[in-house]
Amino acid sequence: MTEPSRTIVYTCPYVPAEWIAAHGLQPRRLIPLPTDGATVAPRVEGLCPYARAFANDAAAENAAGIVVTTLCDQMRRVYDLLARGTRTPTFLLNVPKTWQTVAAQRMYLEELKRLGRFLVRLGGHAPSYNELAETMTQHVGWAASAISPVHDASVPIAVVGGPLMQRDRILFDLIEESGGRIALDATETGRRGQRRAFDRRRLTENPLMELADAYFSIPDASRRPNSELYSWLKNELTQTGVRGVVFHHYVWCDAWRAELARLKEWVGLPVLGLDSDGHDETDVARLRTRIRAFLEMLQ
Ligand code: SF4
Repeated sequence: MTEPSRTIVYTCPYVPAEWIAAHGLQPRRLIPLPTDGATVAPRVEGLCPYARAFANDAAAENAAGIVVTTLCDQMRRVYDLLARGTRTPTFLLNVPKTWQTVAAQRMYLEELKRLGRFLVRLGGHAPSYNELAETMTQHVGWAASAISPVHDASVPIAVVGGPLMQRDRILFDLIEESGGRIALDATETGRRGQRRAFDRRRLTENPLMELADAYFSIPDASRRPNSELYSWLKNELTQTGVRGVVFHHYVWCDAWRAELARLKEWVGLPVLGLDSDGHDETDVARLRTRIRAFLEMLQ
């Protein structure tokens, strides 16, 4: 007899992996490929390809549970599709868009507790403060991407935007083959989507508060106001000495599409805006031409 799955699948950065692990379950952040042979989310006009790919890839996993968040309307739709179209228990985590008020922070904390009760129903156990603190101590720092400063002739580039499917990471290869270097991956599936390092002292005093605070402060275009996104970017762009920005969003992503104009005005660096419908294989030849031209201009 096969063991029942202990895996909890999610993709949104506001789902704390340590909270799932402290319940004795296995967190798995799923970055969709996407896999062929869609099941729950058919290809329909207006559905974000990332959200759709996540729905189909999550449904195809043999998971104990799926966690979706209210990060955007598209993800709410994904929750409905999964709840109706799979037998896997699915949880909708409310992530408040506002983040500066005590009420919003408290609501996120309460949502984590509600998520905890869902995990217990799936066979997890409610962790004591010590167990949670121990799990968090094992993961104090964030998983910094393996990007280190290089002093060569390549042009340091930042990739900014929402999440990228695994297939769309071809962007990185094209930038590098055109003479660029990824000095900053500021996409949701890159460095920007990672929580800050835990504070060891606060972690000991109240681990759940520290966990909630570290995750709730991840900067994103969907936050209101989204000033944190710009202060985070300012800091990172300065530290990495970036000379150009490649901005990517999926066609139906309102939050990131709206951000392109603002970023262009604000950043003071050349910006190449790319969008993709994410449905067909990325048009590599066209992308290569545009990225080459951009890098040539920067050299
Ligand atoms: S890419 Fe945009 S629309 Fe799609 S799931 Fe992410 S935030 Fe939502």
